[in-house]
Amino acid sequence: MHKVAIVGRPNVGKSSLFNRLVGRREAVVADFPGVTRDAKEGVMLYQNHRIVLIDTGGLWSGDEWEEAIRQKAEWAMEGAQCVIFVLDPRDDLSAADYEVAEWLRRLGKPVIVVANKIDNPKHDAYLAELWGLGFGEPLPVSAEHARGLDDLMDRVLDYL
Ligand code: GDP
Ligand code: MG
Repeated sequence: MHKVAIVGRPNVGKSSLFNRLVGRREAVVADFPGVTRDAKEGVMLYQNHRIVLIDTGGLWSGDEWEEAIRQKAEWAMEGAQCVIFVLDPRDDLSAADYEVAEWLRRLGKPVIVVANKIDNPKHDAYLAELWGLGFGEPLPVSAEHARGLDDLMDRVLDYL
């Protein structure tokens, strides 16, 4: 079974992306951080591949749940062929973003860096900084406008 985990800091749009890819509004999307604490699984079909996607809680939240969420995300990544690392690059990267990147590097799974909320091509300028995370080319997507999702899934297929 193919398995792909979606991880990232709170509020970057992990659950929105999960819902968009799974095709159902299963995961709770909210304007405030910390809603998804338990990892949530959903199955999607892409080019005849059945892929189990896992939505996880927001990392480096700085609250009392931080450690538990990180632990659950690590479990979610066990057996995953790759990890989708979602960021909202409309703000500058923070120290916490780089800490998440370091943690992912230690875990050793292939990482696809996804810049979410790139709602139109004007926003592509936000991508440059994400190269600095050290995982190669960042992919622009918009979970809200269903932009860039095939390019993302084509990249995922490379790891299955
Ligand atoms: P999570 O905490 O990472 O799971 O993030 P959510 O999926 O709950 O989304 C957090 C907020 O970002 C919500 O208000 C979403 O509507 C918003 N959001 C998610 N994806 C997009 C997007 O592609 N574009 C824009 N503009 N907003 C988005
Ligand atoms: Mg969520």
